Amino acid sequence: MIKANNPELKSWVSVPENSDFPIQNIPFGIFSVNQSQSHAATAIGDQVLDLAALHSAGLFNGIDLPANVFEQNTLNDFMALGKKTARALRDRVSELLSEGNTELKSYDALCESAFHNMADVEMHLPVHVPNYTDFYSSEQHAFNVGTMFRGPENALMPNWKHIPVGYHGRASSIVVSGTPFHRPKGQTKADDANQPSFGPCRLLDFELEMAYITCKENQLGDSVSTEEAEDYIFGFVILNDWSARDIQKWEYVPLGPFLAKNFASHVSPWVVTMDALKPFTVEGPEQDPEVLSYLKYDEKTHFDVKLEVAIAPDGSEEQTVSNSNFKHMYWNVRQQLAHHTVNGCNMQVGDMYGSGTISGPEESAYGSMLELSWRGTKPLPMKDGSERKFIQDGDTVIMRGHAEQNGVRIGFGEVKAKVLPAK
Ligand code: MN
Repeated sequence: MIKANNPELKSWVSVPENSDFPIQNIPFGIFSVNQSQSHAATAIGDQVLDLAALHSAGLFNGIDLPANVFEQNTLNDFMALGKKTARALRDRVSELLSEGNTELKSYDALCESAFHNMADVEMHLPVHVPNYTDFYSSEQHAFNVGTMFRGPENALMPNWKHIPVGYHGRASSIVVSGTPFHRPKGQTKADDANQPSFGPCRLLDFELEMAYITCKENQLGDSVSTEEAEDYIFGFVILNDWSARDIQKWEYVPLGPFLAKNFASHVSPWVVTMDALKPFTVEGPEQDPEVLSYLKYDEKTHFDVKLEVAIAPDGSEEQTVSNSNFKHMYWNVRQQLAHHTVNGCNMQVGDMYGSGTISGPEESAYGSMLELSWRGTKPLPMKDGSERKFIQDGDTVIMRGHAEQNGVRIGFGEVKAKVLPAK
């Protein structure tokens, strides 16, 4: 077992009940405070702990870390050191924060400068993302969307259970939680119109997704097996992969999503390591038909992470609209990475891979407004008395996620974004 995952561990830092960040989590992020230089940090309870400060003080001696690895705007250099190093660091941070350990606790000046209230810091995009890929790996989501457009008999395309279907997305518009954005404009065509028209998107939607980030490169021409995928996958964030459904409908044939998907994608600021999620793996669905051998896998790699989406209309209380779970995936992350590289495509450090919208079997577990309102035919009630078929200007969409078992809760915090009117 990974030492830092021990459910018995307790910290001398107070951790509120139901916190996403107990001592067993030790996620990684990038923060600044009062416009200071950005540093890498971890989170515990309501505190952000500056890893650069601990490193300068010599508390990570014995772990092979470059001097300035945490004094950076991104986690890329740290992640590139590999999972062994990240694991050693997570174990060491866990040790320093454990009840009974006084190395950090009794170092008053360091505690003073290294701990910050979460409420006082600004969190930044944790990684530089060279490439972004979005999969389409939830069967219920693919079935729902397919049913709307082609009927239930032809809902899944013939390739869907043989290939983890995906497309190359846009990396430059991936932004951190809290970044407001404008409703996109674009070209659409109504079913009864002869000509397309231009204007603000009318069917703005969220997509509830998880995304993983790679920390290792494979050479162009080489492939990564499902077994080797473990060494490549550093950790996970929650991803809101915004979608303009009306723009999508008109543009997507024959090459797939383009401007309907690349105007903004929000991620949660803390990267929760794959190591921390190990205790929460579950069996995936039986795959029938049998998959080709490069897609077979031995280890459980589905994760039981409860996911929630809420909408807060401007000036009003938030309303939960979906409760889903990351375990509702047909294709797991090992299979996705093996498929992505089977042709020799090279992965890079910081690359991000969306799961695709995660919809569970119940209607209340659907991961997009397209499905929740069934193309706008079933509006959802809000607490202020209004209804939503899709997302309106002024709405804030909030996604949260956590895994929980044996009294240990590993959470992601939240990803939240407010929609401003079209420019
Ligand atoms: Mn997506």
